[in-house]
Amino acid sequence: MRSEKGSAVYRARWIIPVAGPPIENGRLEVVDGCIASVQRASGPGGDALDLGDVAVLPGLVNAHTHLQLTFCRGRVPYRGSFTQWIRDLASPARQDLPGSPETAIEAGLRESLQAGVVAVADIGHGRAAAECWRRAPLAVIGFHEVLGIGPRARQDHERSFEAAARVCEKASSTPAPPTFGIGLSPHAPYSTDPAVYRQAIAFCRRTGRPICTHLAETSEEWQFLADATGPFRELLEEWGLWDGSFESPGCSPVSYAHRLGLLACRPLLAHVNYASDEDLDLLAGSGASVAYCPRTHRFFEHQPHRYAEMLRRGINVCIGTDSLASNETLSVLDELRFLRREDRHLSDEQLLTMATLAGAKALGLEDRIGSLSPGKRADFVVVPLDNPATREPLADVLTSTRVPSPAP
Ligand SMILES: [Zn+2]
Repeated sequence: MRSEKGSAVYRARWIIPVAGPPIENGRLEVVDGCIASVQRASGPGGDALDLGDVAVLPGLVNAHTHLQLTFCRGRVPYRGSFTQWIRDLASPARQDLPGSPETAIEAGLRESLQAGVVAVADIGHGRAAAECWRRAPLAVIGFHEVLGIGPRARQDHERSFEAAARVCEKASSTPAPPTFGIGLSPHAPYSTDPAVYRQAIAFCRRTGRPICTHLAETSEEWQFLADATGPFRELLEEWGLWDGSFESPGCSPVSYAHRLGLLACRPLLAHVNYASDEDLDLLAGSGASVAYCPRTHRFFEHQPHRYAEMLRRGINVCIGTDSLASNETLSVLDELRFLRREDRHLSDEQLLTMATLAGAKALGLEDRIGSLSPGKRADFVVVPLDNPATREPLADVLTSTRVPSPAP
């Protein structure tokens, strides 16, 4: 994160502020870590640091990841079944990782920063994770995970919820940067009893904390909520977590989230890969954000995501990498470049907005990051241009393989 004191002036061939059109021969003035002005340079550079033939962009926002799984890169291949992948992820054979969950978070934070990411929404658990988030060199909204299904283990749920609430309260009572926040993540409808969801929702509403969940990630989740059958039921039975007390709501995951009261909390919803027209109507009226994870979506071979329709309906769609157990890098720019190759619907500007302003909004940080606008943090990134003479610098950035670097 940038130094908070002093002033500096930068020049660049192009500045892409996101809040407005690209500026050729741009000049960016920074005072005490915040942007003072962004404009076209007039006259000689003076004391400005000339960054050369580059594009300057707002730092990118990763709206969904699990940095505790940073050491799992390439270790959990997809074998055609999501529940099998969960079994493989949880398998003891996978436990020979090169470090603790905390060193994994720290490694993931460093990798994120090097990829031009300035803010992450990270799901994890434990006091040590919260401490990593609080001390992070970039903005972090940490979501402490809670889960547990079936009332047979209700006491366990209660204890796990109380531990999560204590972690949130302790982290918030310790000095932290203004770009740090902590909330709860009830894991997913197939792993989290409605009572646990309601408890998490009530806690976050009472304390004004952010809330996040995995939702509508697979068609098997639809099946589980429709009639409590299918691969998730089998997995719960296999793990001794099924006692028959879960009452299937008989509706879609998004509709279920609505009934639970979750959509009224402006939640961050990871994936929403399977949504009906009625679901999109519910989301559009709710203020929820959807974190679409393009390369993880491909990894699991899902049906096409409806992000373009979501955007048309005014839903705040942002970009996540998900964890390195289902992705190759923690680079949000890699997500955008992948999407640029695959997407037939959106403009370059719409893609970049998802990875900057929309992500900042989903994390509640839109007053501080997400665009190069006066008053916001000067957390920008620099991408060398393949073709310095281009009139479309963003197209150049999205079609090149140049690696971004953080602001000098
Ligand atoms: Zn996830």
